[in-house]
Amino acid sequence: MVYDVAVVGAGFSAIAETANLLRLLPPWASIAVVGDDPGFGRGTAYRTELHVHRLNVPAGRMSIFADEPNNFVDWLRDQKREVPPDGFASRDDFGRYLRDRLASLLRDRDNRPTVHFIKAKATACDQCTPGKLVFQLDNGASLHATNVVLCLGVGNADLPADLSSVKGVLRERIVANPWRLGWLSHVQPSQTVCILGSGLTMVDQVLALRAHGHRGPIHVLSRRGRVPHAHATRKVEPVVPALPASREISMLLSALRKQVRAGPQWRGVMDGLRPLTQSLWQELSNTQRSRFLRHALAWWNIHRHRLAPDVACQLHTLLDDSTVTVHKGYLQAVAENANRLHLSFQPRGGTGTHKIEADWVVNCTGMERAGIAHSPLLRQMRSDGLIAGDDLGLGICVDANSQVVDCDGKTQAGLYAIGALTAGRFWEITAVPDIRVQARNVASLISADLRGSVDT
Ligand SMILES: Cc1cc2nc3c(=O)[nH]c(=O)nc-3n(C[C@H](O)[C@H](O)[C@H](O)COP(=O)(O)OP(=O)(O)OC[C@H]3O[C@@H](n4cnc5c(N)ncnc54)[C@H](O)[C@@H]3O)c2cc1C
Repeated sequence: MVYDVAVVGAGFSAIAETANLLRLLPPWASIAVVGDDPGFGRGTAYRTELHVHRLNVPAGRMSIFADEPNNFVDWLRDQKREVPPDGFASRDDFGRYLRDRLASLLRDRDNRPTVHFIKAKATACDQCTPGKLVFQLDNGASLHATNVVLCLGVGNADLPADLSSVKGVLRERIVANPWRLGWLSHVQPSQTVCILGSGLTMVDQVLALRAHGHRGPIHVLSRRGRVPHAHATRKVEPVVPALPASREISMLLSALRKQVRAGPQWRGVMDGLRPLTQSLWQELSNTQRSRFLRHALAWWNIHRHRLAPDVACQLHTLLDDSTVTVHKGYLQAVAENANRLHLSFQPRGGTGTHKIEADWVVNCTGMERAGIAHSPLLRQMRSDGLIAGDDLGLGICVDANSQVVDCDGKTQAGLYAIGALTAGRFWEITAVPDIRVQARNVASLISADLRGSVDT
């Protein structure tokens, strides 16, 4: 069978794309959804079952449908789990909401396209020509489609250290991927945990440890030692910042800093910037973009990706009573000694070597931006010239319609990518409010194309 569209992936991007296709495609169309995640739609972010794991975006901005902003808030109310539009629901509830929305679209059997869910991973692309895309699946089958939307997310960053000297049981106490929450049940309450990275993932793991009864010390090591800021407890109106004509990153940042310093509501300035971020990014030269990544990314992350206020409160209690200690520095090595893990690091701005002794080391250094390296499918497609990595290693090249561009700069007919994989083009494309717009745009393009090809 040749599907009209294949959606490859199993996280938020895939479920948002599938839901939009179900709404926009004619009933005679066919869709294949290829993914091997048992909780389709939850992906890395919404698979957690811990209620302490909260969304970091207010509920009023988390609808799966860009044109129905209250959809999630209404669902929460119907489920008797009311959260106000400016409140922060649990990620578990959000995962259930996504699956529920998909299920209700699928129930309307007479008026919707056919959908086949295929439990597999796409491993290679055999053919990529206009009107014919063929992918190999790891179940031995091949998938034929006219359009394909890659919704692959980005992988987890590798641990920033050589671990070859750590063997046996201690090796198992180095958690490379904290999203597999199974490791938590093996941690003894009084053991010492060292978390690498100080962003949102670190906060998640600290709360998860506490929820599992852990009461021992937690060390956090990151290059700058900055933890994310909190959302305001009261609604802050966005303030559209006045930007200079220059697209030099230093000029832009200094204008933003000046406005942030001038008023108490820096959050309003950050929120006011948000609708402009994609176009601003596209106006920057590659030199300015890489300057931003080198010098401003850590600053950007802690102001832009904020914690729910009560989550921040829990974190600060643990920081204040020294349960959690944050160290600024560069990890040099992880070694074993007397049945413990010894981490050495060079303090930021200092000399010499400092040490942390721990029973567990957890990698929370974040998602790997270069989505190509983590994916055998993308590696193969790149080596065959079917896709190209963007200049800054943020993901793959796409055009303004999220259509994939090959190694010669030519648009690949019918092949799209959405989500963080397209950060090179859009930058602000990792969170629900942005991905849902991209998913709808791609579904509209495919729908117009399919309807047009039938009319002609
Ligand atoms: C812990 C966490 C919390 C977050 N919280 C929020 C939040 O509160 N609000 C917000 O707006 N955003 C949040 N985000 C951002 C989040 O990245 C997006 O909201 C969204 O979940 C991204 O989904 P995705 O489908 O693009 O990627 P992923 O969730 O990574 O999903 C990618 C999927 O593709 C599958 N896949 C990969 N390769 C293949 C292949 N070859 N074949 C088939 N399937 C494949 C993977 O198995 C996976 O299921 C959070 C992110 C994280 C990690």
